[in-house]
Amino acid sequence: MIRTRFAPSPTGVLHLGSVRTALFCWLYAKHSGGQFILRIEDTDKERSTKDNVNAILEGMNWLGMDCDEGPIYQTDRFNRYHEVADDWLKSKKAYRCYCSKDELDAMREKQREKGEKTRYNGNCRNLKYDESEKGDFVLRFKNPLSGQVLVSDQVRGDVIFENHELDDLVIVRTDGSPTYNFAVVIDDADMAISHVIRGDDHLNNTPRQMNMFEALGVRAPVYSHLPMILGDDGAKLSKRHGAVDIRDYREQGFIPEAVLNYLVRLGWSYGDQEIFSIEEMTKLFDLPGINQSASAFSGDKLLWLNQEYMMNASAESLVPHLEYHMNLIGIDRSEGPDLTEIIEAYRERAETFIQMAEACRYCYEEFDEIDPKATKKHLRPVILEPIEALYLRLQLLEEWSQEMIITSVNEVASNFDINMGKLGQPLRVAVTGVSASPPIDITLCLIGKERTLKRLERAIEVIKKRIELS
Ligand code: GLU
Ligand code: ZN
Repeated sequence: MIRTRFAPSPTGVLHLGSVRTALFCWLYAKHSGGQFILRIEDTDKERSTKDNVNAILEGMNWLGMDCDEGPIYQTDRFNRYHEVADDWLKSKKAYRCYCSKDELDAMREKQREKGEKTRYNGNCRNLKYDESEKGDFVLRFKNPLSGQVLVSDQVRGDVIFENHELDDLVIVRTDGSPTYNFAVVIDDADMAISHVIRGDDHLNNTPRQMNMFEALGVRAPVYSHLPMILGDDGAKLSKRHGAVDIRDYREQGFIPEAVLNYLVRLGWSYGDQEIFSIEEMTKLFDLPGINQSASAFSGDKLLWLNQEYMMNASAESLVPHLEYHMNLIGIDRSEGPDLTEIIEAYRERAETFIQMAEACRYCYEEFDEIDPKATKKHLRPVILEPIEALYLRLQLLEEWSQEMIITSVNEVASNFDINMGKLGQPLRVAVTGVSASPPIDITLCLIGKERTLKRLERAIEVIKKRIELS
């Protein structure tokens, strides 16, 4: 059975890079009919916070990456880590190291002077326990002194490490807390993880972890180390490149499926296909498709994909997104059109739901002021008479339909011998307060007759005042 795990440390929020790791683990499990486990690596009690745990769980939930087991917290498993530590101590696979910080510093200093790589020199490796019960100690793993470790990485290919390059790593600290490399091995073993997919910043930990698997007598998982994600400027992806917390993408109005689609292509490819439904991703995703080189994040491409999703999904399925964002910016929806109508009308012109929500506010609520720049440019004295004529014409309409509206605008324009745009744009500015909106007949339909007339009255007043002042 294929079992993968996503093992974030709650020392930070869930960011794009980790989401991509999670996605690859999740997809690979689903692709293989296996299971996906979520494990919270919270052994660093100082830097792990409840808020970060929530950020991770919320993010995973929003993205729809459900797990088959978990979340499992490492802090709930300390007894198990101690059990293994005790066992290794007894069987001499681990030993107590009493070296003080000063001694370790001096050791490293000497190594630096000699131009050697700094490492623990094995000082306490052969001490007899009973001889040295003399105070604080850590536990170290007895790494093999010779031989090699072969990591058959599914992305990198074979990577060979020499054991004599690896020192005896601390597995339990003075305060009794397990270290990352130790806990992760016990967990991956106990949870029967078959495939570890993670960032390549962990590649150097892998030979140490494999040696500990050997000590446990458990076969190590198959490893895949993912190349990092770069910003569009070539530097490692960071805050500077936009939102870091995945929840920010939700607030900005991205569709989770679009974010996942964007991320799956960041380091994985299937021919030159760009758009994948979750179902397709699941079917097609496989380890050999993972790229070896770093991939670059592009905010523009993410926006493009999001709009593709907005354009192609059914309007009904998008209603919850729009609803969420209208609530977020506090739009009172008690009077106004159906959200599906808004989606149909605005999705061509919005890349995200927050843009859509902001753009459609005037369909639900009054606005205080017509944009001054648009007023200056479009609500000119010459347009007063045509606008007044249009007002009267619209007032008489019994049926408030796109067809009736467009016919009215055309008639009035031709009566005044001006082209339709010359009238349409002032009309738009008058009823929306801004100079861009969906086609005018659709816009007026959405705003409704009563509001349209009221706003035209106001615009007429604005033009009249302008004439008085001139
Ligand atoms: N907790 C580790 C991290 O967040 C992941 C460890 C792993 O995947 O092995 O970097
Ligand atoms: Zn020591």
